[in-house]
Amino acid sequence: MSTHTKESFQKLVEEKLQRNRRKTMDNASDQDLYYAIAAVVTDEITPNWLATDQALKDNQTRQVYYLSMEFLIGRLIESNLQNCGMLTICNELLEDLGRSPDDVYKHEHDAGLGNGGLGRLAACFLDSMASLKYPGHGSGIRYRYGLFEQRIIHGNQVELPDYWLKEEYPWEIRKSDDALNVQFGGHVHMHKKQDDTLEFSYEGADVVVAVPYDVPVVGYQNNTVNSLRLWSAELPPQHESYEPNAENKYYHHLDHMRSVEQISGFLYPDDSNYEGKELRLKQQYFLVSATIQNIVRKYKRYMETPLSDFHKKVAIQINDTHPSLAVPELMRILMDQEGFSWDEAWEITRNTIAYTNHTTLSEALEKWPTDMIKSLLPRIYMIIDEINERFCKGIWFDHPELRETIPELAVIAEDQVHMARLAIVGSFSVNGVAKLHTEILKKQEMKNFYSLYPSKFNNKTNGITHRRWLLQVNPRLSSVITDAIGPQWISQPNKLIGLMRYSNDLPFLDKIEEVKRANKQDLAKVIKDRTGVIVNEDSIFDVQIKRLHEYKRQLLNIFHVIYLYNEIKENPSLDIVPRTFIFAAKAAPGYYMAKEVIKLIHHVASVVNYDKDIGDKIKVIFLENYNVSLAEKIIPAAEISEQISTASKEASGTGNMKMMMNGALTVGTLDGANIEIKDLVGNDNIFIFGLTSDEVLDYYKYGGYNANDLYRTDDRIRLVLDQLKHGRFGSQEIEFKDIYYHILTNNDPYFVLKDFDPYIESHELIERSYRYQRQWSRMSVTNIAYSGKFSSDRTIHEYASEIWKIQSQQ
Ligand SMILES: *Cc1c(COP(=O)(O)O)cnc(C)c1O
Repeated sequence: MSTHTKESFQKLVEEKLQRNRRKTMDNASDQDLYYAIAAVVTDEITPNWLATDQALKDNQTRQVYYLSMEFLIGRLIESNLQNCGMLTICNELLEDLGRSPDDVYKHEHDAGLGNGGLGRLAACFLDSMASLKYPGHGSGIRYRYGLFEQRIIHGNQVELPDYWLKEEYPWEIRKSDDALNVQFGGHVHMHKKQDDTLEFSYEGADVVVAVPYDVPVVGYQNNTVNSLRLWSAELPPQHESYEPNAENKYYHHLDHMRSVEQISGFLYPDDSNYEGKELRLKQQYFLVSATIQNIVRKYKRYMETPLSDFHKKVAIQINDTHPSLAVPELMRILMDQEGFSWDEAWEITRNTIAYTNHTTLSEALEKWPTDMIKSLLPRIYMIIDEINERFCKGIWFDHPELRETIPELAVIAEDQVHMARLAIVGSFSVNGVAKLHTEILKKQEMKNFYSLYPSKFNNKTNGITHRRWLLQVNPRLSSVITDAIGPQWISQPNKLIGLMRYSNDLPFLDKIEEVKRANKQDLAKVIKDRTGVIVNEDSIFDVQIKRLHEYKRQLLNIFHVIYLYNEIKENPSLDIVPRTFIFAAKAAPGYYMAKEVIKLIHHVASVVNYDKDIGDKIKVIFLENYNVSLAEKIIPAAEISEQISTASKEASGTGNMKMMMNGALTVGTLDGANIEIKDLVGNDNIFIFGLTSDEVLDYYKYGGYNANDLYRTDDRIRLVLDQLKHGRFGSQEIEFKDIYYHILTNNDPYFVLKDFDPYIESHELIERSYRYQRQWSRMSVTNIAYSGKFSSDRTIHEYASEIWKIQSQQ
C-alpha cells in the first residue's frame, strides 16, 4: 500500500506528465492528468503484481480461473487509486490544482465488456477475490467494441458502436509471448497406434492467434494484485497462413482474414436471450480454447505435481453456459495432446469444472445445431458425442427409473447440443445465484438432473463489491458510517449491522438525511445537464435502472406513472408527495417490445413533465446510455429501488443490493434476492407486493388467468390501456397500439395487469411512509445495516470454501 504524501504524489504525476505527455502541471489537460495518474498507479501496482504471481508459483498454490464471456468493469481509475490507498491524496491534489477529480477521471472510457448483471457480477467477483487475497483470475475476451452506446432520438433508441479502445487503455499489457493458436474447421484423422489406442490429428484447420492482454486486479490495500486476462484474436503471421498454391485458396484466405477480425470484434448486445449465431459460437470456443490451453501450459511449467493431479491444483468456474465448451476442450487437450485415456481425462475434467446457472428463462438456454459444431469444431463435436453416449448409457443401465426422461437429459437431442446439460454432466458443482433461484432449479427446471446428482447442486447468492458500490460511489455516506461505527466495515461488511444501534439516534438520522439530500442535489444537477429538466429536489427519487426486458416490467412502472397522471388530471389539487421517476435502460437492438417501452417512457415524460396541472408533482426522467459509470451517479441518490420482475424470472438481481446498500427502500416482488433482503430487514422495511413465484408458475402450468377480465373490470387499467390505444401519449394515433394488443391478445404473459393493483397499493404505502421522514430514515438505516450480507466478499468466501477449496493467501 502506498505511503505517498500529497507532495511526493504530485512529483510523480509531474514526472509522468513530462515523460509521457510532454506537458507540465500548468499546461496539462484533464486527459493528460488522467494518463499521468494512471501511470503513477501502474508503477505502484506492478511490483505487487509480480510478487503475487511469484508467490503462487513458489507455494504451488491451488488456483481458480473465472471464465466469462462478459466483464462489465466500468472505470478502474478510482478503484485502483482507492485500493492502492492513494484516492484521497489524489483528489486533494486535483482540487488544490483547481481541477475537478470527476472531470479528470471521466477521461477513462468505461470498459463495457458486458451486458448487465452477469458481466457486472464477474467484475465484482474479481475485486473480492483480490481484496480477500484469494488466488483467482479472470479470463475473457478483449472485444474491440463493447456494449453499444445508446442515444435517444425522438424517444427512439439508436445504437452507436462503443469503440472504447480509441484512446490508449492504460491498464492493459499486451503479452505477445503468451500467444496461442486456436483452430477452427478442418478435418480430424484417426490413427490406430501400436498399442491399439487411437490417435487424432487435425488437418486443414484455420488458425487464429489468441493474444492475451493482462489487466491488473488490485486488492483493497493488501498488496495483492491478481490478473484479468483478455484475449484478442489475430491473424497468424502472413507467411505461415497463406502461400499461393495451385488450389487457389485465395478467397478462403480472405474469408478467414475477415472472420478472424470478427472474433474479438464486438460483444453480442443481447441479455437473457439466446441467438444461434455462428460467430458467437466461434467467440465462445476462442475464449475457452485459449484459456484452457493457457492453464494447462502454466500448470506444466510451474507445478511440480504431474498433470494427473490437475484438478487438485486448478478449479475453473464457468459463468453461465457460455464457456461450457471448456468441458470438451479440456478433454481434448488431456487426451490428444497429453496422452490420457478417456477415463483419466474425464476424471480430471469432471473434477475441475464448476458451473453457475444464471437464468431459467427458456429463451436464454443455449442450444447449438449439431451441424454447426461439427463443421466448426469437428474434434470437439466427436468428444461431445462420446460424452453424450456414455452419459445416456449410464442412465439406461444405472438409473432405469429415469429412462423415460433421457430425451430431456441428453446432451445431444434433436440435432442440438444443449449447453446447460453439457455443463451439468461435465462439472462437479452446479450453483444457482439466489435461494429461490436454486430451489426452482432443483424442483423444476433441473429436477431430473438434481435427482441424478443431488450433491452437485448448491446455492451462492450473488453479491456486489461494497468497496466500489458504497465506499467509492458514496463518500458522504461512507464517512457518516465510519464516524458512527469505525472503519472496520470496509474489510468486514457485516459490521454494518452496528448501524442498528443508531437507528433511533436523531443526530445520526439528521446526518443520513443530509447525505441523501446532497446526493439528490448532485443527481439533480446531472439530470439538468443531460436532459434540461429541473427536478424537485424534495421529491421522492424513485429509480428503476437495469436492462430493458419484459420480465423486469418497466411497463408496470410507467403504467403507475400514467395512473398517477390521470389521478392528478382528474383532481389537480390532489395532495401527493412529489415524485421523480428515474429510468435508465438499454434494450437489445432487435428487441421490438423493449424498444417500444423505451419510447413509451419518453412520450409519457414529454406529456407529464410539461403539463401545468402536474407542476412538479411528477417528473419522468430517462437517462440515456446506462452503464456502470451512470449507475454510480444514480444509486447514491436513490430513495426507492424498483425491483418488480415477474416472480420466478429474476434469478437474483444485483441492482437491488447496490441500492439497498445506499439506503434506498425496495419496492419489489418476491423474486430473486429480494426475498433474502426481505428476510433480513423484515416486512416493515421493504415494500413487497404481487404474485409469488409459485402462483406465477401455477398460472403457466394450469392457466386460470385472464387479462381481459381485468381490462373489463378495473377502470384504472382500462383507462391506461385505452390511452395507449388511442394515441394519448403518441405523436401519432397508432403509436402504442402494439403494447395494447400485445398485452390483451397474448394474455399479459408477464402479469403486468395482474400485479397492477397491489403495486399501486404498495406505492400508496410508500407515500404515507415518506411523509414521516424520521420513520423513513430509520427504515433506510436498517437497510444499510443489513446490506453487509450482499457484499461479494461473502459470496466469494462461499465459493472459495464450498466449491473451489482454495485458501486465502495470508
Ligand atoms: C448492477 C448492474 C446491472 C444489474 O442490474 P439488475 O437490476 O440486477 O438487473 C446492470 N447493469 C449495470 C451497469 C449495473 O451496474
